[in-house]
This record gives sequence, C-alpha cells and structure tokens, in this order.
Amino acid sequence: MKKRLVIYDETGDEPIEDIVFSGGYNITYTNLSDDGALRKIRKLDNGRFGDKHWIKNYLYRPIAERLVEKFPELKHVKPNLILFLEDVDFAPGSAKNLWIAQMKLANKQLSAMTGYQYILETRSYYIDSMQREQLIALLYHELRHIDKDGDIVKHDVEDWSNMVATLGIDWATTQATIQDLLSDDFNQWHELEPMAKQLNMFSGLRVVR
Ligand SMILES: [Zn+2]
Repeated sequence: MKKRLVIYDETGDEPIEDIVFSGGYNITYTNLSDDGALRKIRKLDNGRFGDKHWIKNYLYRPIAERLVEKFPELKHVKPNLILFLEDVDFAPGSAKNLWIAQMKLANKQLSAMTGYQYILETRSYYIDSMQREQLIALLYHELRHIDKDGDIVKHDVEDWSNMVATLGIDWATTQATIQDLLSDDFNQWHELEPMAKQLNMFSGLRVVR
C-alpha cells in the first residue's frame, strides 16, 4: 500500500512537503523548545543503505526479539536500538577479514540522527548459504556481544563457550543441521569443561566476530 506524508504549516493552507511513497520511513523532528532535542520515528526497516548495504531490520529484528525474550542472558538487549545492515556486495577474494557478522557501536552522528546505538553488519555472501537454524544462532552470538552496560564485549573463548559445547565448534559453517535455539525443544545450554575453555583449540578459526 502506498503512503502519503503531507506537512503543512500551522495555518494549514499550503503543504510544505507532500510525498507519496511505498516503502518505510524515518522521521526526525525538533521543537526548538526542549533544548532542540531530536525526536525520531524509525520505520525504515527495508531499503538500500549506501552503495553496498541493505537494511534488514524487517528480517532480523523479529528473530532478535524472540531470542531476547527466550534467553535470560540477553534480557538487557534492545533489538530496536540495532540497525541491521547487510553487505550485499562482499565476496571473499583475497580479503583477510572473513567474518560473517559483526556487532559494532554506531558512531555518534548516526546515533544522534537516527537513535540506533548499534550496527549489526552481516554479509549476504555467507548468510545466503546458511540454514535458518544457523542464522538464529548467528544472531544469538552477535547479541551476546552487547553487555549489561551496553558496551561491546569479546567472547569468553574464540566463540561463546555454551555455543561451542551445545552446537559444535563449526555451527556457523557446517552443512549438517544444528539445533534451533528458538524451538520449544531447545531448553538447555551445555557448558565446556573448564579445561577445554583454557585450551586454545580455536586458533585461526574465528569466522564469527
Ligand atoms: Zn563474536
């Protein structure tokens, strides 16, 4: 369905803006009366972002919300503060950084303008060959990078130890079907033995940032 955004001045005579469109929208506005604070309406969940990225909020945020609802260790995460951007252009070639996904703090300017505090960047080159269970695990993995204070944290091992112990070390790349974290059948994480945590058994294998 198409939408129409019309902005009038107070008198309501002549429209200042009159836009008909069919996608989403973000609106930022200010009153000048409350320190000029920027107010934001974020409804732009699917669209091109720059040359090589696509906004994927419509696809990934609902999964993130279900993960936050299900897993107490993610309780503090707010998926509506994450901008999900997918690099639709990347191909490995001779690149050295072969990560599949990466959680970052949004820079201050983007944050001030849009209200997003985090950017989760994914690469469709890898995502497209993942099974849904792997995508869910990937989003779980990336959400864990946001700690209780809202900062970005590193893994406890080269991955999260509960994921390695439960889903296997190669959960992101295996061709076999892994467990669906959002299934009702999934109810408990396994943990690595303390010794296994100390071994550097993942050297050179970090594919998931
Ligand atoms: Zn990671």
